[in-house]
Amino acid sequence: MITLESFVSGRWQEGAGEPSILVDPSTEEPLARTSTEGLDFGAAMRWARERGGPALRAMTLAERAALLGAMSKTLRDHRDELLDLAMRNGGNTTGDAKFDVDGATGTLGGYAHLGQSLGERRVLPDGEPEALSRGGGWVGRHLLVPKPGVAVLVNAFNFPAWGFGEKAACALLAGMPVIVKPATSTALVTWRMIRILDEAGILPEGAVQLVAGPSGDLLDHLDAQDVLSFTGSADTGLKLRSAPRVLERNVTVNVEADSLNSAVLAPGTAAGSETYGLFLKDVIREMTQKAGQKCTAVRRIFVPEAELERVAADLVERLEAVVVGNPADPEVQMGPLTTAGQLRDARAGIEALAAAGRVLTGGPEPLTGRAAPEGKGYFVRPTLVRADDPRAAAVVHEREVFGPVATIMPYGGSAEEAAELVALGGGSLVASVYGDDAAWLAEVLEELAGWNGRIYIGSTGVAGAALGSGMVLPMLLHGGPGRAGNGAELAGLAGLRLYQRRAAVQGDPALLERLFGVGAED
Ligand code: NAP
Repeated sequence: MITLESFVSGRWQEGAGEPSILVDPSTEEPLARTSTEGLDFGAAMRWARERGGPALRAMTLAERAALLGAMSKTLRDHRDELLDLAMRNGGNTTGDAKFDVDGATGTLGGYAHLGQSLGERRVLPDGEPEALSRGGGWVGRHLLVPKPGVAVLVNAFNFPAWGFGEKAACALLAGMPVIVKPATSTALVTWRMIRILDEAGILPEGAVQLVAGPSGDLLDHLDAQDVLSFTGSADTGLKLRSAPRVLERNVTVNVEADSLNSAVLAPGTAAGSETYGLFLKDVIREMTQKAGQKCTAVRRIFVPEAELERVAADLVERLEAVVVGNPADPEVQMGPLTTAGQLRDARAGIEALAAAGRVLTGGPEPLTGRAAPEGKGYFVRPTLVRADDPRAAAVVHEREVFGPVATIMPYGGSAEEAAELVALGGGSLVASVYGDDAAWLAEVLEELAGWNGRIYIGSTGVAGAALGSGMVLPMLLHGGPGRAGNGAELAGLAGLRLYQRRAAVQGDPALLERLFGVGAED
């Protein structure tokens, strides 16, 4: 069994005490053990502040970008090994594992590219100079500088690679050292990534540290200039953002949490059309990729009332064709959930949804997956629930069942009603809308934009090109309002803002130019 060490204060260190055991969720065989007990996280924070921060702040944006490029390349060179670990520890199919691992290297590479274009400077201007005196001899402007603290990255179990890559890319490019803390149950992939990066000798001392397991007292060492960037459940998000230390020290917190994402079929979308084909393909993918354990997975499906029967039948047919089992078997299309606890929660969640409607396919009953030992593994059938009165089915809009589970519901066909029903989810990461009526789409888009971080429009024009609503891209915003955590990540350069301070500077324009390389006419 592999023993995971944490990489803190410049050394790989094992914790003491009773370890947590990481398993293969298809077979329940133990894979690795980890403990963080007794590790000195105060020293790790100081290490980041005293070594990593100064080293990164001394680098120009182009140099930091080169670091990200080297990280991306180094990890790509170990792609097969990382995919294998993601499959074993995460129950991922090959496709699922690529989504996570390639997502990480792609995001690091994307920010490397973006950073190169920012050039050999350490400070970025924000907005235009403002003349503060007649004649322009005295100007003011805003500058963006790295926060002189530590970015603590707490990630969810479902994206151990991408979760690290997307957060670290923005923090490191901004100039902040990171301490990444993956979820304990799937820490194997993140652990291996940091080992690979350390062995390659490309990381400035103190720039990247790893807590490979429970966070212990790590967050008790947060201070005013630190950033806590969290991804996980709404409950944990609430706990962390309201922790006394976080409140006392005004620590910057970003929360990416649960989300009850919607797919909406516009009225008049013909059964044989490309748009309808895209809708079916996307919904099935978004329900079953990573066994539905994606924050961007489709949970609620809204369909015009008159078409509900046909659409439900089409989805049921496709969901029943999905082969569920151990991804070690190449025939398997969907793997297990990641932990026994996740399986328990998903089954209970299906029962709760079923009480508000009826199960069309799937359900909470135990399942032995293909190529898995009898009675072992955390498998769930792809499950579609139908609820005929969406306004009465409160649980559908409130409970995120973190598995291959969605509820299909009717609506009258108006853009206004579709948007109103989507908003019952209280704020989501993404809503997808499928149709070709531009006027209808424009109307629904305006309404949806207030409640969703991203809106994916599936129409004939994009049917051959679009990658699906679940694909998070470095150049576009990731994060949704309300229940989704009200966070904001990525979106190109805007993704750095979490890790930067904006300072207003007033002075002689020529002096500003000389000091910061940003003058009145930058
Ligand atoms: P979770 O139980 O909230 O855990 C998330 C992370 O927080 C883990 O690293 C966990 O560490 C840590 N954690 C838990 N309690 C903590 C505490 N008291 N102090 C410090 N750290 C603590 O969530 P999960 O089960 O891993 O992830 C599933 C959830 O994440 C789903 O609800 C999903 O929607 C959401 N998610 C959202 C996004 C997004 O971008 N919006 C992306 C992915 C997932 P341990 O594992 O060591 O307990």
